[in-house]
Amino acid sequence: MTEQTEHSPSDMEVIAELQRKYHVPNYAPSQAFVKGKGSMLWDVNGDKFLDFVSGIAVTSLGHCHPALVKALKKQVGTLMHVSNLYYNDKAPRLAEKLSTLSLGGKAFFCNSGAEANEALIKLARLWGHPQGKHEIITFKNSFHGRTLATLTATGQEKVQAGFAPLPEGFRYASYNDLDSVNDLIVPETAAVLIETIQAEGGVLPAETSFLKGLRELCDEKNILLLFDEVQTGIGRTGEWFGYQHHGIEPDAISLAKGLGGGFPVGAMVTSPKVQDLFLPGTHGSTFGGQPLAATAALTVLTVIEEQKLVEHAKAMGELLVKRLEKLKNKYSFIQEVRGQGLLIGIVLDQDAKELERKITRRGLLTIATAGNVIRLLPPLTVTPAQVKKAVRMIDKACGEWQEISPISKEESAS
Ligand code: PLP
Repeated sequence: MTEQTEHSPSDMEVIAELQRKYHVPNYAPSQAFVKGKGSMLWDVNGDKFLDFVSGIAVTSLGHCHPALVKALKKQVGTLMHVSNLYYNDKAPRLAEKLSTLSLGGKAFFCNSGAEANEALIKLARLWGHPQGKHEIITFKNSFHGRTLATLTATGQEKVQAGFAPLPEGFRYASYNDLDSVNDLIVPETAAVLIETIQAEGGVLPAETSFLKGLRELCDEKNILLLFDEVQTGIGRTGEWFGYQHHGIEPDAISLAKGLGGGFPVGAMVTSPKVQDLFLPGTHGSTFGGQPLAATAALTVLTVIEEQKLVEHAKAMGELLVKRLEKLKNKYSFIQEVRGQGLLIGIVLDQDAKELERKITRRGLLTIATAGNVIRLLPPLTVTPAQVKKAVRMIDKACGEWQEISPISKEESAS
């Protein structure tokens, strides 16, 4: 549906041309959005979209949630930034909240997921060095960020290509394969770093038996177990944190994305075991934990708690999967529907980009991931009606796709 906005369609050309001319060309955006409310986005032409991307798992409360807007407006007019040379009245409250919700230790604040993972990596080194340990085992197909250390932690050649020499000390095991981790352990192994769901890697959940085995193995060999909860954290999977589905606790977690609800906030939260390793001068971040960022995160956590959005995400995820399972039975090119809570992947038997485009044309935003997966990340506030509407749009796009690609259907049926 097209609505009147203060922009005209020609604005799109101006924006795209400016970006082409003045941005380094590391992104390939398709649309320009100018307004958001709840689960909805409006583009520069006034076209309205149901947003099941949420800024890649970021806008956990939907766009422009009134409580977040109000809290940020107030804080902008009170105090935005003072630096970590001083206390501020918001960050310690946020740290207390995150500690209580998760591992009971202490927090370090930063601005992004990569930075939060850098903190985990540095923590592992600080903890390991006195014992002669520095290596970190991560996983093939993982994603931990784009800084030099985190792209090295990322077990994907395409992410690392072109950036050699990479930092030393990373080895890559196979996900959900405990023996492959065991095989890589050496006396120098300090930590294992893992996502509870490989989200960028195609929405691949870790098995509980694997994570429990990993915890036991790490305890037995005196190795830290670190969870990258950048995408799975803050209610996304139907628990506050992904690890809470599995009855185990890691030694520390990284957070970002949904934590700030759209404001850039990253955090590392530790267990008491490793909470006091970063002493003055060992680590820092100018903006980390500034009052404005901490206000955003505190408000997000408060709204999630008060409105029971973790439970809601679980229920909405179940509804979404139930409806998508019906599509799986209808379209033979859908191989599997997987994920947890509101981090869901529709696995196709072929590249997902064209179907993603068709779904977008129907008015629903999704992300094609890992080649053949359509990833769905609605806000935690998504309504049952919006879930049903989204699945109807996917159904229509699949129907249209099937009509124009009957060969794929025959091939996959044979
Ligand atoms: N870790 C995981 C699991 C992620 O999904 C991402 C981003 O997609 C990151 C780390 C990197 O976060 P950022 O882009 O905020 O640096």
